Amino acid sequence: MMKSWLVCFVFTVTVLTTLATQNQPTAEKNNQVVLKYLGTAGWEISDGTMTILIDPYLSRINGPPPPGGHPMPGDVRRAFRWDDVATPDIATIDSHIQRADFVLVTHTHYDHVLDVPHIALKTGAAVIGTESTENVMRAYGVPEEKLITVRGGEDYQFGSFSLKVIPSIHSPLDHKRYFSSATAPAGMKAPLTLEQIHPEGGTLAYLIRFHGHQILAFGGMNYIEREVAGLEPDVALIGAGVSRKEIYDYSGRLMRDLHYPAIVLPTHWDNFLAPYSASQQPALEALQSFVQEIVAASPKTKVIVPKYFEAIPLETVAK
Ligand SMILES: [Zn+2]
Repeated sequence: MMKSWLVCFVFTVTVLTTLATQNQPTAEKNNQVVLKYLGTAGWEISDGTMTILIDPYLSRINGPPPPGGHPMPGDVRRAFRWDDVATPDIATIDSHIQRADFVLVTHTHYDHVLDVPHIALKTGAAVIGTESTENVMRAYGVPEEKLITVRGGEDYQFGSFSLKVIPSIHSPLDHKRYFSSATAPAGMKAPLTLEQIHPEGGTLAYLIRFHGHQILAFGGMNYIEREVAGLEPDVALIGAGVSRKEIYDYSGRLMRDLHYPAIVLPTHWDNFLAPYSASQQPALEALQSFVQEIVAASPKTKVIVPKYFEAIPLETVAK
């Protein structure tokens, strides 16, 4: 009797231990945060349950170049003008975006916002952005309860993540001549032209706190130093296009202000006027100077040059 009790006890302990070991990786897996670069300033951040998109722009139309930008030579696709109807590439979006819970938009330029109405309507995601961005969403019939308008300074809790909205400024395009105080007005109705979805409406950055990580995301090549000083992200998505060179000690100040983040992911460095299939070799070569700047300012930081749609899993942080 005693012996069978002992066998039973040992068996139970063994089963419980096995269950515990089996559950361990599953529990960790649920906290695994994975980033994916969508091109331009676009990112997907997900733990498999909660999916957050930042500036998702997958259409990569042959659109009007930004000041100082150039269309891809030999592009035979339709060339869009400012007064053409803003037409996202639904097939491309749908082949890559299956779900989203939140879409964060840094500013209302077409290379950040063109695809967002379709993604919001398709996935039911809430769209967080400036009044200008939300007015574009309203024009496309994104329901009011899915719109969260911010101006910078907010720090909101959303279930499994929290979001600090950071006032920021736009890339100093056209050798610092770029300036826009334009805002998309209320009361517009789709279809809108590219020009109508391109009034900057102010620029924001976002700090996402998610499973022990702090991910700082910029949508362009500029920042307000006092707004980012003292943040301590372990992952920073930093605008790495050439216009950053207009800014005094861009990478050095940022690395010091952010206390030397463990991982830097360059963003908004590719030629977004070219389709995914085109070579980004010139942009990749230009990116090397950014990598060098970061490494010089912060030798322990790991700079990962992202490939389109390739999963970048973050180390799981013990809670
Ligand atoms: Zn812009």
